[in-house]
Amino acid sequence: MTSTMDTLAPVGPGRSRAVLRPVRPGSIALCPGCAQTVKFAARVRRNQVIANVYVDGHWARVEHYHPECYEQLAQPYGPPQG
Ligand SMILES: [Zn+2]
Repeated sequence: MTSTMDTLAPVGPGRSRAVLRPVRPGSIALCPGCAQTVKFAARVRRNQVIANVYVDGHWARVEHYHPECYEQLAQPYGPPQG
């Protein structure tokens, strides 16, 4: 397993965190884990991991992961909150 991400959880108020949410229709987010779109599928109720990423205590970006990709990356932003 390879991961280029720093897995040290930052501390303080501006902390990176992840939540588990259903994929919305029209989603075009690209999963950083596999470089594939996190696609909405009508027949399959899929979830995605949405991570709010903070760098040096400041919000930097939102990343959308397939739940399985997030697991494979060893949950870089901590366990997803439901
Ligand atoms: Zn993925």
